[in-house]
Amino acid sequence: MATPTKAASQPAYALTLDLTGRRVVVVGGGPVAARRARGLLDAGAAVEVVAPWLCEDLADLVGAGALTWHERDYVAGDLLQPEPAWLAHTATGDRATDDQVAREAQAARIWCVRADDAGASSAWTPAVARGRSGSPAEGLSVAVTAGGDPRRAVAVRDAVAAALDSGSLPVRRTRGAEPGRSVGRVALVGGGPGAEDLITVRGRALLAAADVVVADRLGPTGLLDRLGEDVEVVHVGKTPGHHPVPQERINELLVHHARLGRQVVRLKGGDPFVLGRGGEEALHCAAHGVPVEVVPGVTSAVSVPAAAGIPVTHRGVTASFVVASAHDGAGPAVQALRDAPADATLVLLMGVSRLAETAEALVAAGRRADTPVALVESGWTERQRTTVTTLERAAADADAAGVRAPAVVVVGDVVALRASLGDLAG
Ligand code: SAH
Repeated sequence: MATPTKAASQPAYALTLDLTGRRVVVVGGGPVAARRARGLLDAGAAVEVVAPWLCEDLADLVGAGALTWHERDYVAGDLLQPEPAWLAHTATGDRATDDQVAREAQAARIWCVRADDAGASSAWTPAVARGRSGSPAEGLSVAVTAGGDPRRAVAVRDAVAAALDSGSLPVRRTRGAEPGRSVGRVALVGGGPGAEDLITVRGRALLAAADVVVADRLGPTGLLDRLGEDVEVVHVGKTPGHHPVPQERINELLVHHARLGRQVVRLKGGDPFVLGRGGEEALHCAAHGVPVEVVPGVTSAVSVPAAAGIPVTHRGVTASFVVASAHDGAGPAVQALRDAPADATLVLLMGVSRLAETAEALVAAGRRADTPVALVESGWTERQRTTVTTLERAAADADAAGVRAPAVVVVGDVVALRASLGDLAG
């Protein structure tokens, strides 16, 4: 019977097979046959190998009872006896044998993959990228063929696998919840200080799989524009002139969406557990039986000073730093410094509106009036700006420069390093 051949321009038909319990014959005992056999076994096939000898990998599989080995050369009828195979792979390294297997497969209407000659095959195995188990991309497979150029296919496959891991592909499920889960999940994702590439790979991947994103004003808000149109984005952060959504309402929102089976990302600026109320959100989810995870982020407390060329610790200057909120006044900062070494760097978040009061209280508590202070606004964004001053002049200089939130206030001798380092935000 003449074998029809496919024109190079004609696309092959892509298909996925359920091989569970189905007989597949692999002819050949070398490493290529071993790779094929492993893939087939992973897919649940009943694999039989026909070969006079086996490489170590295949011998291991036989030893483990994973497949059946016919210890001999291929003979006519192997594909049909004791029952017809669903699929054949031939990788003997001997053209005449591969030809024979392919011919007999053709006659019996059994699809046959040839390792030696893709052009003479009736079927091809693609290079497959799979979403890692436990990752947001779990359950996804991307098959790549490259018209008989396996290395090209593998290179693309590897790039796709990396993209599945990185969260740059839209891996969101649109049908049904994850297997075994009727309730969705909440991920408290630290987005970092604002630059889109300062979120972690895990955070980015979860964002790419989210059904609902509950977002703050700070952090990498630019990423929100790149979500699919059907992803629901709920803005809960303060914007000028608008009241923020109260924390209890945010907590309720997270639980509400998760209970509808959705993947919820709570995207926060910096790190979720650094003055971000992430702990409260985690507790609320846990109390309501909603699975919750945290993805740490690059906190502004350290990264925003860094962007302005200020290391929060520096050999010979100080080996410690304290972070405090100035939201409710100077109390926490004064208290934090009371037990800290005299040279400790003080990093204040939410420190702009009550700067005068805080600076005064720090001097009253024993810090030198001429202690260097840096006010770093909108770190890691195009609007980043740094004002260097001292504790006694901080409030006046901030007023004069029109310093606005969000800003990180750094107090301590490390600020002097900025004179040599300058901006380091890249
Ligand atoms: N969880 C966040 C902090 C939230 S409190 C974190 O780990 O970074 C909000 C405060 O963080 C702001 O008032 C400001 O002091 C600081 N902040 C956050 N992002 C900032 C940025 N890009 N530039 C300057 N300050 C920032």
